[in-house]
Parts: sequence; structure tokens; C-alpha cells
Amino acid sequence: MSGPEHSCGVVGISADFDVASAMHTALMIIQHRGQESAGLSTFNGQTIESVKGNGLVTVALPKEEVKGLLGHVGIGHVRYATAGNKSIAYAQPITVTTNFGPVAVAHDGEITNFAELKEKCMRGGSTFLTESDGELIIKLVAKYMNQCNDPVKAIRAVMGELDGSYALVVMVGGRLFGVRDPYGFKPLSIGKVDGGYMVVSETAAIDSLRGDFVRDVEPGEICEITRDMYKTYPNPVQHPRATCMFEWVYFARPDSVIDGVGVYEVRRNIGRVLARECPADVDFVMPVPDSGRAHAIGYACEAGIPYEEGFMKNRFADRTFIMPTQKEREFAVSMKMNPIKKTVEGKRIMIVDDSIVRGTTLKKLVAMLRKAGAREVHVRIGCPPVIAPCYYGVDMKTRDEFIANHYSVEEICGIIGADSLGYISYDGLIEAIGIREGDLCLACINGKYPTIIPGEVHRSQFQSTLNHDFQ
Ligand code: AMP
Repeated sequence: MSGPEHSCGVVGISADFDVASAMHTALMIIQHRGQESAGLSTFNGQTIESVKGNGLVTVALPKEEVKGLLGHVGIGHVRYATAGNKSIAYAQPITVTTNFGPVAVAHDGEITNFAELKEKCMRGGSTFLTESDGELIIKLVAKYMNQCNDPVKAIRAVMGELDGSYALVVMVGGRLFGVRDPYGFKPLSIGKVDGGYMVVSETAAIDSLRGDFVRDVEPGEICEITRDMYKTYPNPVQHPRATCMFEWVYFARPDSVIDGVGVYEVRRNIGRVLARECPADVDFVMPVPDSGRAHAIGYACEAGIPYEEGFMKNRFADRTFIMPTQKEREFAVSMKMNPIKKTVEGKRIMIVDDSIVRGTTLKKLVAMLRKAGAREVHVRIGCPPVIAPCYYGVDMKTRDEFIANHYSVEEICGIIGADSLGYISYDGLIEAIGIREGDLCLACINGKYPTIIPGEVHRSQFQSTLNHDFQ
């Protein structure tokens, strides 16, 4: 299994102007997909030049350096990394020089047969600087380019080797390609901007460049993007789809649309379904900002209960989810959120969030609301209990960390100190997304992986044997 790359964000633009500054804007719009590092690469007619750095886009990619990047074709990346994987060597795009010219790749997702493929490449004489999927992918593209000198054939051959999730932007010399894995785990959309075309992880970035959404890259499709058009090389083999449901629940921006379904709309629907499935008699509904906001609005509208903001969020605080120890995570939650005392004092409150993973956030928040004088605190969650690791790029890795694998809903309610706790049902979530169950990846909530995961198959078989033995 690959290491440090998870859900990230990618962009590629081909236009009749220097694209670096437009890509910089696009990366700022998809910044939520990764805050560890950012990078931009452009093809200037001869070589590929890059600017990469750690941290947020504004810090990693200083405007003066970006201005110096010339070229009408380029790709960019923002990277999400788990705790401990912060080295600059992992920043993307990754570029290599080959016999047929320079190549650059940026990747969103996770390659599940990474170890096997890397070993195969090493047996063939390749050397690696990192444990990154991006480096593996570019080595494979270079290998197949050497064999056929045709970027589409080379990318198709690489796709034949890769298992897992990937939305890729690939630059082979001045040719730009957007690629989505055959299951469509990760989003990737095509947009028309003034003077060119773009491909990007989220449609909100097309809006920010005052462009028009054209369509999503189809699962398994290779799309060549030029300044005047886009050209499709569809997947010759039909697969079931498996778009990650967590994109709608948590990961994507509310103003993005994935495969024709608006993220904000889904979150509101989730709130509506929750209000029907888990009602409560409360004075007002409030979100965990910002992740639970649209869910809470949907709940309040459906239940006809007032909506309030009961927490002030410090948006400059560090990310709590990836902190290495439980103590640090708990401390960081209090740094990040502060209850608005006058609003919550003496009130019966319903607080809505998108998901519970370890339970850290809500345990802390419920305690803070009580300390601020809340009379009752009811919790509603817009995702069924997370019980299985994600191998496709969402940072949820070990079964042990999931609170729902150790405790019942009632017990979790006690642990987080709430008066009541309700999760949306599995069917309710599917209804809220409005896409057929068979076209979604729901592995983190049902344990059924759309593709074979090395080790996981054996583990599940072992698990069912154990369950059988104990019946
Ligand atoms: P926890 O505190 O461990 O229960 O995590 C749940 C909180 O973290 C929720 O408020 C989510 O919005 C957020 N969250 C859930 N999954 C992820 C993820 N993979 N990466 C970052 N944040 C997440």
C-alpha cells in the first residue's frame, strides 16, 4: 500500500496565455483538498519548469516565482499528507526528463497495488526517491513512452497496471491529459475558460476562473486538453462506477458539483433525512463549523426548528484530524472552536456534524457546550458509522481507530457526553446523494471494497472465519 498521498487536488490548463497564474488561483480554490504542499509545472516550449513548496498555496507558491513560470500548458497539485509525511520530496507535480522530452504528473488518490508495482519497477532497474504514488506513476509513464512513443497508448498501458483510485493530470511535453480511474473514485471535471480549456478536481475552480463547466471526465477515460478543444479516449472496458461518497459528505467544497450532483444539495438532503430519521425536541439546531453547516441547515429547515451558529471557529488553527496523539488532537479542538456563550446558555441544542471517526471532536465540543451552560446537547451525524479503513485516499486507515468498531451508538453517546446521538441510516445517505448504491464507493461504512485490496481479502476471510467460530 502506498504511503503519504491521500485525497489531494489536481489542475491542468492549456490556453493561449501563460497559465501559471490561473492555475495558482485554481489551486487556492481547491486548497481544502490538501494543505501540506503545493506545486505548479509549466511547459515553456522546451522544458518543464516547476515551483513547489510546503504549506498553503500562498506560502508554497509565492506570486513572484509563479509569475516567472512561462508556458501555455501546465499542471498543478495540492497535497494532503498524514502526520509524519511532510517532506518536500513528496510535493507534486513530479517531473522527469526522458529520451522523448519532459514529462510531469500530479495525482489525487491512492494506488492499492503500489508495493507490487514498485518492486516490479525496481527489479527492472528503476530507483525511487520516495514512497509516493506519483513517482511510481511517472516511472511507468516514462517506461511505456520509451516503448511506444505515444502518450495515449502509454497512459492506457499504465492504467492497465494501476489498481486503486486516481485522478491524474499528465503533461507529456506540451500535451496535457486528464485521466480518471475506471471506477471514478475521485472527481475530475473539464471546464472551458476564456482562451483555453482546463481539467480540475472540483468544479468550483472552473467557476473561480469565470469559466464554464463542460462535463466530468468519465471513469476510465483519458481526455486530452488543448487550448481549442478537448479530445476523448474513452475506456474500452465498461466497469461499474464507485464514486467516493465521502466527497459529498465531507471532502469536496459545497459549491462543487460531482458527476452532476451538487455537494451543498447533498449535504442539505442529508440534514433533511436526518431530521426525519432522528427527531428531537430542541430550541435550535447548530453546526460543527464548517463541516456540518449545510447538513445542519437541511435539518433545521426540515424540522422547522431555528438555526443558530453556536461555535466560533478559528480558521487559522492547525488541522486537528492529523495530529499524531490523542492528547494533541483534543487540545487542538479547543484551540479551534469556542462556544458563543450567550447563544447556548440555558438552551436545548442540536449539534450536527458530517462524521464521527474517533469521536475526539464531538467529545470535546459537547463538553464545551455544557461548560458554556447548554441545558441539553443532542448530536446528529450525516454519515453512518465509519467502520472500515479507506484504501482509496481518504485519511481513515485503521479499524482500531474507529470508535464505532468498539462501541454501540448508545455507548458512543455516553462517551461523547450527549443527551442523544443519531446517525443517518445507510439507506438514508444513499437517498440523500441520489445516486444508485451500485455506483458509489461505500466501503468505509459497509466494508465492501469495489476492488481487490492486497491483504484486506485475507483479513476479511480471516474475520469471517473468526465470526463463524464464535457463533
Ligand atoms: P473525529 O474527531 O476523529 O471523530 O473526526 C471527525 C471530524 O473530523 C469531523 O468533524 C469531520 O469533519 C473531520 N474528518 C472526518 N474525516 C476526515 C478526514 N479523513 N480528514 C480530515 N478530517 C476528517
